[in-house]
Amino acid sequence: MNEQRTTRRGEFHVTEGELQECQSKCRSCGAAVVFKPSPKKLKPGQAPKTLILSVKSAQADPMGGGYYLLSHFADCPHSKAWKR
Ligand SMILES: [Zn+2]
Repeated sequence: MNEQRTTRRGEFHVTEGELQECQSKCRSCGAAVVFKPSPKKLKPGQAPKTLILSVKSAQADPMGGGYYLLSHFADCPHSKAWKR
């Protein structure tokens, strides 16, 4: 069966390995998060961005090999304090 899943807005694919190895805790609320370098291409001189993804939001990829996570920014109770 080819199970269809609904793509959620703003989600990112994370491999099983990344979920294990890049896991950390949110400095604001202590929730389990994954730090992943942004896959977006950088313009010259642009600093690389790191995505902070909520482990709680993980949905298994039905094709296997990973998970889809949403930005922790969306569900962090302290996200307003993140602005730099
Ligand atoms: Zn948080």
